[in-house]
Amino acid sequence: MTQERGAGRNESELAQAGEWVCNVCGYVYSEGQGCPADGIGPGTPWDQVPSDWLCPDCGVGKGDFTQMD
Ligand SMILES: [Zn+2]
Repeated sequence: MTQERGAGRNESELAQAGEWVCNVCGYVYSEGQGCPADGIGPGTPWDQVPSDWLCPDCGVGKGDFTQMD
């Protein structure tokens, strides 16, 4: 049991990276991909995206995004 802790645990969490869709234009922010054009690297969780980040396509704020399953 003690030897089963390792990288696998974090990898499975990354695999569950969420996606958030813009309510206005349908742009999808994927936590796995980030938004490199805005300086947000791949793997950035939604709650670490700056609160002043705006949708690259239509310019609305994070409050107009909805999490997808
Ligand atoms: Zn948008």
